[in-house]
Amino acid sequence: MPSAMFAQRARAAAAPPAPWMNQGLSPDQRADLVLAQMTQDEKLQMVHGIGWGVLRAGAPVPPGDNGGAGYVEGISRLGIPGINLADSAVGVRMAALHGRYATLLPSTLGAAASWDPEAAFLYGSVIGRELRAQGYNMSIGGGVDLTREPRNGRNFEYAGEDPLLAGRMTGNLAKGVASQQVMNDIKHYAFNDQETGRNILNVVEDKKSMRESDLLAFEIAIGISQPAGVMCSYNKVNGDWACENDYLLNQVLKKDFGFKGFVLSDWEGTHSTVKAALAGLDQEQPGIVYFGDALKGAISDGQVPQSRLDDMVHRVLRSMFASGIVDHPPVPAVLDPFRGRDDAQHIAEESIVLLKNADRILPLAPSVRSIALIGSHADVGVLSGGGSAQVDAPGGNAADPRHSGTQWGRPVYFPSSPMKSIQTHAPHAKLTYNDGTEPQAAAAAAKSADIAIVFVNQYMSEGRDAATLSLPDGQDALVDAVAAANPHTIVVLETGGPVSMPWQSSAKGILEAWYPGIGGAQALANLLFGDVNPSGKLPVTFAKSEADLPHPQIAGLAPQSRGTVGTADGASAIRKTFDVNYTEGVRFGYKWFDSEKKEPLFPFGFGLSYTTFAYSALKTDAAGKSVTFTVKNTGTRAGDEIAQVYVELPSTAGENFKRLAGWQRIPLAAGESRSVTIALDPLTMSVFDTAKDGWTMPKGSFRVLVGPSSREAPLAATMVE
Ligand code: BGC
Repeated sequence: MPSAMFAQRARAAAAPPAPWMNQGLSPDQRADLVLAQMTQDEKLQMVHGIGWGVLRAGAPVPPGDNGGAGYVEGISRLGIPGINLADSAVGVRMAALHGRYATLLPSTLGAAASWDPEAAFLYGSVIGRELRAQGYNMSIGGGVDLTREPRNGRNFEYAGEDPLLAGRMTGNLAKGVASQQVMNDIKHYAFNDQETGRNILNVVEDKKSMRESDLLAFEIAIGISQPAGVMCSYNKVNGDWACENDYLLNQVLKKDFGFKGFVLSDWEGTHSTVKAALAGLDQEQPGIVYFGDALKGAISDGQVPQSRLDDMVHRVLRSMFASGIVDHPPVPAVLDPFRGRDDAQHIAEESIVLLKNADRILPLAPSVRSIALIGSHADVGVLSGGGSAQVDAPGGNAADPRHSGTQWGRPVYFPSSPMKSIQTHAPHAKLTYNDGTEPQAAAAAAKSADIAIVFVNQYMSEGRDAATLSLPDGQDALVDAVAAANPHTIVVLETGGPVSMPWQSSAKGILEAWYPGIGGAQALANLLFGDVNPSGKLPVTFAKSEADLPHPQIAGLAPQSRGTVGTADGASAIRKTFDVNYTEGVRFGYKWFDSEKKEPLFPFGFGLSYTTFAYSALKTDAAGKSVTFTVKNTGTRAGDEIAQVYVELPSTAGENFKRLAGWQRIPLAAGESRSVTIALDPLTMSVFDTAKDGWTMPKGSFRVLVGPSSREAPLAATMVE
């Protein structure tokens, strides 16, 4: 801990007990007591960060700054600590800078594939635990922007295309962070659904569609986690920047969602003083362009009422008290890397999705004689996602012979070796590795082995999108060559999100491993050999090609960057603001494929198991808004089934698609059957009525569909409201 932090804490300890330190009072009462003691300058100090800090070479780093993405000075004379914010989408960022260790969890999109809210809570608690150990008191993760754009570079930091699934998973993740007495955050509010032009684009969408899609995901996540902070995004929404958007911030977030925490801007996402302050922005990050002297002036000349500044500060303080960071400040400690790794592995084991298993090629027998491993540095590690979600790899980049550290935009492999883990499951097998750069050499290696496992990947990062759904770097041709040489070819994908698979019919087995995290290799090997039965299901639709998407091309993508990977904002030729028209409204992902009657490559909610399940005995309870049915494991292995319930609204709603309304992950021993009752989320059965500015549940017949994916409904019934 920097010596200044010791000094700050020592000063705080020496201060006389103040009335706001009474833990019997509510966070709001305590915040008001502090506020009453603060000078105007102290108040202003709490509504902006100190600058770029360690993120930008040469920027000042004040003594209390813990070296994360942001820092807000505390008021030590009142015993109010500074706020040390750390990026922590998939693990704590920038640990290497300080010689610290951080656990890399599977991507959050991967974790969403577990459909397991307890796994999401565990995920958040790993992050919270490690933030505390590293001296941070606020997380800035919790991304819940929906996968409207499957090529979005940040999909791996989000939780898929469905508002209920994404909202519940991210809400539970953020709740897990808070369980460790760390302030949590939900971001990027809202509609930061692509990176191309994220700093200049204007999303255009009608209110009803907004409320029933992306904003619903935020509503659910915020309702579950009651976050300390919500980060507003870079883009504009219907003409106003998200961080000065009265509709988004004041009307929806604060009034309708009842959000009591503070709104912080994305880094340099603040665009004004008066407009932003009046629209509901509470804290400028990372520096002071608009909320320092400029805000002071705007208050003294009456453009911003004093009560607004007091409200901003109240919101910051009440979040600090409510989270416990004032009463229980983080205690720097040596964190337990083994515990983090085990937790990451557990989540990965629930997240990896078995997409194809022709001729039951999987699970592999431990007696397999030879396996050719090909591509993606599978000899040494697993891929991680980039940008501000990048976690530093222990020992440096496993795929870089010079063991270099993290650099923006360069893929980092974590030392979790699929080859080593596979070898432990098949100790007598001859394993070879080919790097996959030459398809013909890879095919030759595959030809002489019993089994070929091709690892393919798609590196994704903040700041850029994939221009197409295709795997980059000729990897489709690699799979073609290997599959032609060896009929027993299994493909393992390490991708940020959905990709196309033109070779799908020639591979015998396909596993989507996402970015599987530091326990990824062990998880994968356990699944490949059947020690763990695959149970993950897709949280996003995989399209056959971009021609089938609502937007075949990413809006604003500069023609010159239409290569394998597109570039966004700063790096692109785009300079002028442009509109992204969400004419599809809520119909993206499975709702688009259903209503357009298009066949996806793999549908939302899909995933195979090494066992089989049968569904029966559906009963609906209209009054209780629930359904009851039985699921039986009809195979010979234990396994978890993720049973999904979809509803089609009464015809008056005018929709030609279904909506996910509930689900349950059901562990079943071989032959076991269980009756489950699933509550249907009333918001998913409702429409947003713009005239009354509220939700209404339509009257009439709801069609209820129950089954293993969005495209299979062995059970169906009608429920009359
Ligand atoms: C990202 C945020 C991140 C912030 C601080 C921004 O570029 O959009 O997600 O929290 O930087 O690193």
